[in-house]
Amino acid sequence: MTLPIRIVIGMLTGTATGFAARLFFAGSPGLAWFNDNIAYFLGQLFLRLIFMVVVPLVASSLVLGVVELGDVRKLGRIGMRSLLWTGLLSAISVGIGIGLVELVRPGEMVKAEVRDELRAKMIPDSKKVIENALGARRPVDAVLGLIPKNPLQAAVNALEGETLALMVFSLLVGIALTLVDPEKARPITELAEGVLAVSMKIIDFAMSLAPVAVAALLFSLVVRTGAELLASLAGYVAVVVLGLALQLFVVYSIVLTWRSRWRPAVFFRQTREALLTAFSTASSSATLPTTLRVSEENLGIPRQIGSFVLTVGAMANQNGTALFEGVTVLFLAQLFGVELTFGQQLAVVFMSILAGVGTAGVPGGSIPLIVIVLQTVGVPAEGIGTILGVDRLLDMCRTTLNVAGDLVIAALVASDEGEAS
Ligand code: ASP
Repeated sequence: MTLPIRIVIGMLTGTATGFAARLFFAGSPGLAWFNDNIAYFLGQLFLRLIFMVVVPLVASSLVLGVVELGDVRKLGRIGMRSLLWTGLLSAISVGIGIGLVELVRPGEMVKAEVRDELRAKMIPDSKKVIENALGARRPVDAVLGLIPKNPLQAAVNALEGETLALMVFSLLVGIALTLVDPEKARPITELAEGVLAVSMKIIDFAMSLAPVAVAALLFSLVVRTGAELLASLAGYVAVVVLGLALQLFVVYSIVLTWRSRWRPAVFFRQTREALLTAFSTASSSATLPTTLRVSEENLGIPRQIGSFVLTVGAMANQNGTALFEGVTVLFLAQLFGVELTFGQQLAVVFMSILAGVGTAGVPGGSIPLIVIVLQTVGVPAEGIGTILGVDRLLDMCRTTLNVAGDLVIAALVASDEGEAS
């Protein structure tokens, strides 16, 4: 049985047993204990094993990607193409989300009492989120922060939002390696090759746990997400999921047919392992090793293109996150009866696209950015509490689109470069 099939079986088992547990053991201490210990342990074991190698993997894969491209101009061209595609696809994604949220107006479907109850339940969580978000830096410092004063520190903090800084460092190392005496460059390149191979092997170990871990993660999700909560936010959840599905299946199919060598059906079949991993981990960074492997082995995208486009994309191309941010801000504006001017709506679009770039590819990475956008357009920031209870579910869905978007861009760039096999 192949891994994707085993993961799907894990998903179905986790979901079914989660529902059964809710039905038969709702509120029992035994269920809470099982969930907080066994299911939590299995899920976290898997996630931590993957996160453990994200830093060495991102660094080595980018260094090697640049060295293998061998030519800074080629890197510039690929970078430019990826950037243009990212901009275009993110704008379409946010457009779909905002169009749907304006059409359906889910914020007006939730009763004021339900809204206040949801918000009240989440006050401690919202406080934490808001504090973190408001500690954010000024834009100029954020840009300067991309150049790490100390690359080791950037590596240490990579999963807390300094991944972009680590990437800038790795890119510069890669570029410098192509320009120094090859004799001097060789040991470092070989080291990067070794680090990459070892990281991939550790990911293989982790992935062998994936089916069981995914079952545990879904079990917890089902047990923890209140059915009433889901029902009261059904309009909002439906708009996000429908928007993501339209971008995934319609928009991506159109661009793939238009500009790549892959038929959409083949593309989705070949990449399903990465999409399932994204869904289960809710993290583009954690999915990166699988994304890299699938791109090379199943799609035949040359490694030098894949490692550059996908590694940068895992951090900076997040169509799902962009859509989710736009929908959430407008939903909360509707919910709290804040009328946004046309200018403010444009600001939401623009900031959502940027948020897709600036969000760390980790679970819940987009929440702090939503708080900032809410504040900018004058929607109460504590409103975020209303949606925190369904965030994990939506995170799994948007991360799937984020990762699919990275693979689509890699496919488009490889086709543009005429190098796909
Ligand atoms: N979890 C998302 C990712 O890793 C980021 C987010 O939208 O929270 O791609």
